[in-house]
Amino acid sequence: MKETPSTCCYCGTGCGVIIESDGHAISGVRGDPAHPANFGRLCTKGSTLHLSARHDARALHPELRQQRDGVRRRVKWKEALDFVAQRFAALIERYGPDSVAFYISGQLLTEDYYVFNKLAKGLIGTNNIDTNSRLCMSSAVAGYKATLGADAPPCCYEDIAQAQCLFIVGSNTAYAHPIVFRRIEEARAKNPQMRIIVADPRRTDTASIADIFLPILPGSDVALFHGMLHVMLWEGLCDPDYIARHTEGFDALKETVREYTPQAVATICGVPAADIVTAAKWFGGSGASLSLYCQGLNQSVHGTDKNAALINLHLATGMIGKPGAGPFSLTGQPNAMGGREVGGMANLLSAHRDLANPIHRAEVAKMWGVPEVPAMPGKTAVEMFEAVRRGEIKALWIACTNPVHSLPDAGSVRAALSVAELVVVQDAYRNIDTADYADVLLPATSWGEKEGTVTNSERRISRVRRAVAGPGSSRADWDIAADFARRLARYLGKAEPSFAYQMPEQIFNEHRATTVGRDLDIGGLSYALLEQRGPQQWPFPMGATVGRQRLYEDGVFPTPSARARFANVAYLPVAEATDARYPLHFNTGRLRDQWHGMSRTGTVARLYSHDEEPILEMHADDMARRRLVDGDVVRVSSRRGELAVRVAASAQMRPGQVFLAMHWGSRTMNGAGANALTITAFDAVSRQPELKHAAVQVEKVELPWRMVAMRKGDTVARMARVQPLLRYFGYATCGLYGHGQAVLVLRTAHDAVPDAALLAEIDAALELNEEHAVTYADARRGVTKRALLRDGKVEGVRLAGEVAAAEWLKDWMARDIGADGLRAWLLAPLATPPSGAVSRGRIVCNCHDVAESEIVAEVKHGSGLAALQAKLKCGTACGSCVPELKRLCAQPAAV
Ligand code: SF4
Repeated sequence: MKETPSTCCYCGTGCGVIIESDGHAISGVRGDPAHPANFGRLCTKGSTLHLSARHDARALHPELRQQRDGVRRRVKWKEALDFVAQRFAALIERYGPDSVAFYISGQLLTEDYYVFNKLAKGLIGTNNIDTNSRLCMSSAVAGYKATLGADAPPCCYEDIAQAQCLFIVGSNTAYAHPIVFRRIEEARAKNPQMRIIVADPRRTDTASIADIFLPILPGSDVALFHGMLHVMLWEGLCDPDYIARHTEGFDALKETVREYTPQAVATICGVPAADIVTAAKWFGGSGASLSLYCQGLNQSVHGTDKNAALINLHLATGMIGKPGAGPFSLTGQPNAMGGREVGGMANLLSAHRDLANPIHRAEVAKMWGVPEVPAMPGKTAVEMFEAVRRGEIKALWIACTNPVHSLPDAGSVRAALSVAELVVVQDAYRNIDTADYADVLLPATSWGEKEGTVTNSERRISRVRRAVAGPGSSRADWDIAADFARRLARYLGKAEPSFAYQMPEQIFNEHRATTVGRDLDIGGLSYALLEQRGPQQWPFPMGATVGRQRLYEDGVFPTPSARARFANVAYLPVAEATDARYPLHFNTGRLRDQWHGMSRTGTVARLYSHDEEPILEMHADDMARRRLVDGDVVRVSSRRGELAVRVAASAQMRPGQVFLAMHWGSRTMNGAGANALTITAFDAVSRQPELKHAAVQVEKVELPWRMVAMRKGDTVARMARVQPLLRYFGYATCGLYGHGQAVLVLRTAHDAVPDAALLAEIDAALELNEEHAVTYADARRGVTKRALLRDGKVEGVRLAGEVAAAEWLKDWMARDIGADGLRAWLLAPLATPPSGAVSRGRIVCNCHDVAESEIVAEVKHGSGLAALQAKLKCGTACGSCVPELKRLCAQPAAV
């Protein structure tokens, strides 16, 4: 058994993991007790990383399609990279450097990012390199730069324990950053006097810890922050001395917030004025106030203003640069920070240099050994795909991200990729929508197989280490990019810059050199030091023995005047107003157990157990008005597209708002997922698109015919075979289930009995068409039961017409219960479940496989959290379900 310390590849918390392997295959994972981000803890996603270390969804070998209408064939690396290099060189020579573009990812390691950035800006001479971090953090970057002068989160995780007041806004920390939320729970337990304010349009599990919950209306954040500042001024809670000594621009802002009275803001935000006053008094009156925020602020057409208006509160009260205080942006992706550090975006330069600054451009050009780097900002994410659609960008290289799934208005992204002259997709996974458009597919190594570094939300750089080799002929992302760069340089006849890297440490050292003298100076860091002393925060200049925990403790800011700047911004409404035709606010966000487009988490059956299929969450009054009940299929439509999903009443929602998780897409449902509906409008400064609001309509769809098909084993391959068939049903979802045996679960609904040929295709895709399958058909009632039994076990089932039994059958299959008790049920006209058949419902605790029904039964007998944990063991491992357990204990009657 080999143990390899590394870092979790999911969220920006950046938890340390220990990978267990035999050197060939990964067999286990546990939290690294020595890592300062998590001290040994992992959430549901991190603790199942080893279950996702499988090869059946992976891209294994380079593939090339030379004709647009042809199929891709497997080729050697040399042929694939030479083909792309020749095509890129021809396009660059004919149309100029801006005819090509790179769309990369916050999932890449810093070393990967560095090489791609140097390739685009240094070798090719285009700033057309952007990343999915644009969808995630660019408003946070712009907010920090506008106010503090640099893109640097000033806080650290230890501040959570030292804060007297926590202001969580636009962040479902309990789901998106679970280990950060464990720290919040601990801090609250140790300091019951700590005040916690949560502001969010949805009453998420994060809100369950709040002393005051502000369910603000979508997009009204700036008004809320101005209203709080208005109260702080009125109550004398600002810090005039700090404002005078360390800031500028306060008088203009003071004038602006004059009209943001609690009453006026209460109307804009839809929350009681008294709560706004209380929140302001708590924030301004505490000894140390810490804000935690994320996509709710960032993913907005006014994202920069929202970030800046929140930072205003910290500057006005002097709540920055001291323990327990500051504006702490939680990064969504594992290395959004690293990408920012190397300047791997269309408007950034290496080491937080400014693209518009000729001195900065000259510095970077000198370091790379090139005559110049281009001055004109490149196309950012949404703009890049629009330019592809217009034919301005002719070749697009997409690495480690799935834009067909994740960019807004998925229909226009598909249209762009359809007309591109060349699409290169470099990814570890082939089970992604974007791979369908790849003319060239380049297989990359993934978590557990590659070396490098990442930076988490608190500026902490951690090593990512290789435990096993990548499958097939996959290669590290930096290695693919550097090999391509060397070939492209030959075709372009250029001698520079150098891409002669043999190992990622050389790249890290080159990146390190670019940071010296900058705000993020890591001149004193090295792989060896990270090996000896573990993860370190930046800055870590030469001669330092430890990284800097907090920034701006001296009140000196990296602006020309050395003062922080108040942002005098105004509240503006959302970009797309609701109206009579599209009367509902549509919101998107994360589930607890899935990650992004599910290419990795979507292969792990137990990660579906908490949320098995896409569900539109809606307020009960809105459902009643439309005569909807839980489980009905509805059509959600916007001006851009529509989706058929099931609906459920949710106590988290305010009237007039609906929510759909971002993870589902055409691999798991009939439709493109939430981004079939979203808008492409983006923030004028950060260029971050609005993913938190679109105007939609919801209507019932009558699809009386229902079918559920389930199959054990080979789930990923069978999912891939079923996926093209989903679109033939009025409603269809395909997911997994099970803690032991993995069961594929296909759910469909249709307006009439579908063609027999379609059902035969489903049977063939799931291999339910074997001769010895047992079939019961009641033509009069339109009911069919088909079961594949083998070695006394149920291998597969297809139920049509009447599907309620699927809820206990899936558990029967996952638990591998013998088929004997089933035969009578299978051949009986009435669906009376056999004894022992139980519909467990939603699984709340993934680690110990404990269902909501089992928890509620205990709660109804008087059990509290401690008793539940003692008896059922739920919430005693990773802790991700603890907020939900507390909610179930507090509201047993609501279940
Ligand atoms: Fe990974 Fe969970 Fe830690 Fe995020 S909180 S880094 S997903 S273990």
